[in-house]
Formats: sequence, C-alpha cells, structure tokens
Amino acid sequence: MKPAKKHVLLAVAALAIVALGFGGFSLIKAQQERAEYAKFRPLPTGPVGDGIEAIRDDFVNMYVLRDGNHLALIDAGVSAESVGRELRQANIDPAAVEHIFLTHAHYDHIGALVLFKNARIHIARPELAKLGDKEKAGFPVAPTPFDDGEHLQLGNSTIQALIVPGHTPGSTAYLFNGKTLFTGDTLALENDHVTPFNERFNLDTALQRESLSKLARLQGITRIATAHYGTSTDYSTAFKGWAP
Ligand SMILES: [Zn+2]
Repeated sequence: MKPAKKHVLLAVAALAIVALGFGGFSLIKAQQERAEYAKFRPLPTGPVGDGIEAIRDDFVNMYVLRDGNHLALIDAGVSAESVGRELRQANIDPAAVEHIFLTHAHYDHIGALVLFKNARIHIARPELAKLGDKEKAGFPVAPTPFDDGEHLQLGNSTIQALIVPGHTPGSTAYLFNGKTLFTGDTLALENDHVTPFNERFNLDTALQRESLSKLARLQGITRIATAHYGTSTDYSTAFKGWAP
C-alpha cells in the first residue's frame, strides 16, 4: 500500500470512530432527557381554584386565569392542535383570551400562540432580547416586553411579573392577586418541597438558586403552580430552607 493511500485510510478510520463516539453520546443524552421527561407530573385539564384552570398538553401545564368575563393565559403549551382540543373540552374560546403571560420562550410554553388571535403576548425584556429565530417564528404578533416587578392587569385582578433568571435569561414567575405564584420552569416540586429545575434543561442553575431565594421571601402566597410538577398549597413548607 502506498503511504499516501494508507494515510487516507487512517484518516477515514479516525473520522468513523469520532462519528460513532458522537452518535453514542447523543443517544445517551437523548435517553437521559427522556428519563427526565418521565419524572414530570402535569395536572389534568380542569379547575385548580381561585379562578384558575389547568390545561394539560402532554407533559406540560399552561393555565387559564379568569376575572369575570376577562380571560388570560400563563404560557401556551406545545401544539396548537392539542391545546385547541383541550380548550374546546374545557369550553374556553381561544378568541376570548385577552392576554398571554409567558414564563419563558421554550417550545413547550409557546407552541400554541397562533390560536389566540386577539391576545397581547407579554414577555420579560431580557427573554425577548435573547429570542432565537426558531422561537421568534412561533410568535404570531410582536410580544410586549415588561421589566421586573411590573404590575399587569386583567379586569380587576393584578398580575405581578417577577423576573427570576436561571432556567432562561428572562424566566418569569407571575403572582396572581398576591395569592397564586406561577413559576414556569423556575423550580421543581419533589414531595412538596422546592428544588431547582433539572440542570440539564437550565441555562444557569446557580443563578436559578439565587432566584429561588428571592421567591422564598414572598409573603401571603397560598398556591404554587408549576409547569411540569403540579401545585403546592403550602408555601412556607415548600420553600423551607431557601430564604437566606
Ligand atoms: Zn423551559
């Protein structure tokens, strides 16, 4: 064999080994992600209390907020088809939704935005600044940005936006009438205790821990509503150990 030919063969073999390595690595990564998805425990579609309804789309919850005839959403699920079906069953007209408050812009929170033709979409300014082209394509209208601590209105109800970065740059928790805290993917609930969201899906878990300490100081909350881990009605027990 000519030395040049031998070099080519060696290079091809080396490339094949690298490719196999990458293939194996992504296979393991996909398996680990599937295992994490299997731990999610979304609520079934139905009323949660205090004018709030959970809508389940596969492995994630979005929520409907009501104040009289006024309707708003926290997040917008994975797909327009399945969210549309769940809303029909819950007798909710997508055209009646006035506001959508996004906890962040991952695909499983913005997937059905196109259904809500009359809604204004609210998103944290730092989240909007970091939106990729793929996420931008999911927005039927330009979203309205807000800053940390801003109060938004639904009829006579107030929704305070608390920017809690970590899962994404502008992840947001929403406090509805000072009672219910919607946390998106800012935390997980394990045996009714708050833990950080899975690190595999977080941008910066250390930063998320700081955000959780901030949330732990809030007073008067009677319900935590997560996107993937159901709800808790015992705030102080859930956040025990998190306040600095
Ligand atoms: Zn997420």
